Amino acid sequence: MRERAKKIAEKITRDSFPLLEGKRVFIIVTWFRFYALSVWIPPCLRFIVISNRTKNFNDDEMTGLIAHELSHQERYLSMGTIKYILFAIRFVFSRKVQAFEEKATDRLTIEKGYGRYIYEISKLSKADPNHKKINPNYLTPEEIKGYAEELGKW
Ligand SMILES: [Zn+2]
Repeated sequence: MRERAKKIAEKITRDSFPLLEGKRVFIIVTWFRFYALSVWIPPCLRFIVISNRTKNFNDDEMTGLIAHELSHQERYLSMGTIKYILFAIRFVFSRKVQAFEEKATDRLTIEKGYGRYIYEISKLSKADPNHKKINPNYLTPEEIKGYAEELGKW
């Protein structure tokens, strides 16, 4: 599963995340309540943690999941170290900061051309009882489709 995720991440990075090329992003597969998360430990430890709950995701769904996580990584990189550390502390404590980050990340993922992929993830997430509390932090399937159409990327 890790190998498959790694291959997909390499392809998405090559196609759509030039800023992340040459930066190593480690992929860890483990037990985890949600689908995935992204961490940067400055200066150069970058992790995407993927839950083994996603083991039945098909390639398109895995692409959506990883494109979203790589969008986090690109946002972190663009913030720079100091801003990122301040952000990370606020993120842990504030739902408002969490929602802002997740929605901005969804929008970046759509701008990168992965709207249809995260649309699928969003539908899965909506139906997942484990995600009930975090779902309001993300764009809804309708918002994803609407934004992608607005950009001509649907
Ligand atoms: Zn996220």
